[in-house]
Amino acid sequence: MTIAVIGSNMVDLITYIDRMPADGETVEAPDFEMGCGGKGANQAVAAAKLGSEVLMLTRVGDDIFADNTVANFERFGIDTRCVLRTEGPSGVAPIFVDKDSHNRILIIKGANAKLSPADIDAAAEDLKRAKLIVLQLEVPLETVYAAIDFGGRHDIPVLLNPAPACADLAFDQVARCTYFMPNEPELALLAGMPVDTLEQVEAAARKVAASGVANVIVTLGRRGVMWLADGQVQTVGGLEVQAVDTTGAGDAFIGCFSHSVVSHGDVAKALAEANRYAADSVTRRGTQTSYADEVVAHPGA
Ligand code: AMP
Repeated sequence: MTIAVIGSNMVDLITYIDRMPADGETVEAPDFEMGCGGKGANQAVAAAKLGSEVLMLTRVGDDIFADNTVANFERFGIDTRCVLRTEGPSGVAPIFVDKDSHNRILIIKGANAKLSPADIDAAAEDLKRAKLIVLQLEVPLETVYAAIDFGGRHDIPVLLNPAPACADLAFDQVARCTYFMPNEPELALLAGMPVDTLEQVEAAARKVAASGVANVIVTLGRRGVMWLADGQVQTVGGLEVQAVDTTGAGDAFIGCFSHSVVSHGDVAKALAEANRYAADSVTRRGTQTSYADEVVAHPGA
């Protein structure tokens, strides 16, 4: 195993809409799809599809969604020994995608809210073999902090994707990660600064970097990605593609980056590959179903 993802799984309930209903109104929507999602699971699947050996530490409920989620992990060869069963509902995510491919997402955490620091201790022997630990914020913060601590104790680099945005995330915990990977709204909330222009993104990234985290990597949607390390900024421009559905693009980016950086260790190259992989994913509908098995040279071509 090379990558351990400690985080969430969700069942995506994706409704394609012409517009959101107003208060008290019922409108017909043109289409619906159900899929496996959750930021942790998405990132695990992207990395596994690209060929990484991935272990997933997560909790599922005792409902009809749990077996489906486990089977989905197995389909991609993900190690499910640390997929734990919990009484109550699995995590569920109703997602609304409009005609311009913008998405609105609700999260019901379900079993994900019960992933605990004790679960990390119980999985310690498996986790110790990881070359990278990947984290998001759809599980309790104390569990995220325990995972950061585990990485520190065992000399395993930690990638933290602070999503969904969380104002309570402690800077001293962020500082202990090797890679901190927010998108624009997440960075704005954490830094307490606007991120409308690239100059503002850089200023906010520098504020976070001042905490001590080695690499701040900000995904910028169609504008690409900005990387701040050792006080130096590099930007990888966004790629021109026909965006159909941007749901899960950030997870595609992180899954591919994780796979790439563990495979060859070159951060700049891994960012370019992740940028291509994520851009390619937005040209197709769905979340995990939009992820390719390889990093194409020319997304959308
Ligand atoms: P985001 O989470 O919106 O910042 O997007 C994550 C990554 O997906 C970006 O850094 C890009 O690599 C890619 N991406 C997202 N939206 C687009 C788009 N409309 N066109 C091209 N690439 C995109």
